[in-house]
Amino acid sequence: MGANPDLYLRQVLIGPMANFVYFIGSKRTRECLLVDPAWDIDALLEIAAEDDMKVTGALVTHYHPDHCGGHMMGFKVPGGVHELLERVAGKIHVNRIEADGVKKVTGVGEGDLVRHDSGDSLRLGDVEIELIHTPGHTPGSQCFLVDRRLVAGDTLFVNGCGRVDLPGGDPEQMYETLTGTLAKLTDDVLLLPGHNYGPTPESTMGEQRRTNHYLRIRSLDDWLRLMGR
Ligand SMILES: [Zn+2]
Repeated sequence: MGANPDLYLRQVLIGPMANFVYFIGSKRTRECLLVDPAWDIDALLEIAAEDDMKVTGALVTHYHPDHCGGHMMGFKVPGGVHELLERVAGKIHVNRIEADGVKKVTGVGEGDLVRHDSGDSLRLGDVEIELIHTPGHTPGSQCFLVDRRLVAGDTLFVNGCGRVDLPGGDPEQMYETLTGTLAKLTDDVLLLPGHNYGPTPESTMGEQRRTNHYLRIRSLDDWLRLMGR
């Protein structure tokens, strides 16, 4: 299967929490979206400019400040979606369920957001991005599937998965996401996580099914025990 020649995709490591920001766009139209812009909007826009790409908005996996900026429970992160919208014209694409959380944490307004359902897709040039609702880490967490690549936020890491003990976390929903929703992805799909927590910055779903403990749980009971319930 040939890769989409129009796809522009970049992984950028940023900030003290080893976050990955992704740039997804079209080489033909020179437009891109930033996935989870935070920490340093100047640096991110500079990278786009160096690549001759225009940033036209953002995709947000979930409302934690290290992914979209803002503050939550005394934890404050600079350079998020609020700052991005002061610099570029565009919208913030969020899951419908996560929208109020993103507004509260970042201070963006309803008019800045596009609320999405699972299965929605966005198109830039010849590049199609599918939005998949993957609750568990937060109620409205979403992943983005583009050209056999899964941009996974804090849902799935290389050899790990997102915490379910933070506000909004739900271990049973995470179990359903990992064993139901993500199980539908074929082994060749590339995993692009939201943090650089693993031995490598990316992996494949096939490799993860062999090595990621959290994808090898056999029952909900076993899972809840592992999660300390
Ligand atoms: Zn998170």
